[in-house]
Amino acid sequence: MRKKIVAANWKMNMLQVEAAEFVRDLLQELGDQTAAEVVIVPPFTAIPRVVEALGGAEHVKVGAQNMYWERSGAYTGEISAAMLRNLFVRYVVLGHSERRQLFGETDEMVNRKVHAAQDATLRPIVCVGETLKQRDAGQVEEVLEGQLRRGLAGLETKAFTETVIAYEPVWAIGTGRNATPAQAQEAHAFIRSVLRELADDATAARIRIQYGGSVKPDNARALMSQPDIDGALVGGASLEARSFAQIVLAAAEDALDEERLSS
Ligand code: PEP
Repeated sequence: MRKKIVAANWKMNMLQVEAAEFVRDLLQELGDQTAAEVVIVPPFTAIPRVVEALGGAEHVKVGAQNMYWERSGAYTGEISAAMLRNLFVRYVVLGHSERRQLFGETDEMVNRKVHAAQDATLRPIVCVGETLKQRDAGQVEEVLEGQLRRGLAGLETKAFTETVIAYEPVWAIGTGRNATPAQAQEAHAFIRSVLRELADDATAARIRIQYGGSVKPDNARALMSQPDIDGALVGGASLEARSFAQIVLAAAEDALDEERLSS
């Protein structure tokens, strides 16, 4: 069974004090739930404060929103995988649609970052997803397959299982317009079929695929109960500890239900 994974993508929000307050409130809201894996993805500047506020709480991990593929050198403004590992970061979000659209990231760049992250034992969360124009033109599968094939090119089997995919339809990000559970499930099932071709059946069955795009406490459970949806990448609703915790708890309840059904 795949452990659900719910990540809070804070984007360019949260000063240090706010970040520490969020962690304190989140830990209180979550109590001792361990059924779902939780990742906080702060801006670089708040990472040390989040790690400190977590105080070694093993059930909540820290991620970064981006990184560069080189190890070190004359790359002004960039951050390497080793620098993130040095701050106790475990995950890194790569190829978010905002990076693709606003900062010109290509699948080839995402691929270089995926390899560099894996080499440094950082687990990539690789974002894929179509625009509304592409959906309306009937190109969803073509777009997703291309992003996956190019973005994950050259990965070994073990590296695949340590990679998380986030399906984030661009038209659903920050718009309040989420994909229906059926639309999301259809895309997730397709992504898993591509992963089967890129790796193998057993590996594809172990890879976690998050849904992202206007996930809120009131739609989380319906999304999370779909068979190929293994968690959420949450933007707007992750800026408030209470609403993010409710999404995590929805994932945890779903995981516990699945466990009951299979025992
Ligand atoms: C995101 O940016 O990854 C995201 C899913 O944002 P939101 O939840 O605000 O749509």
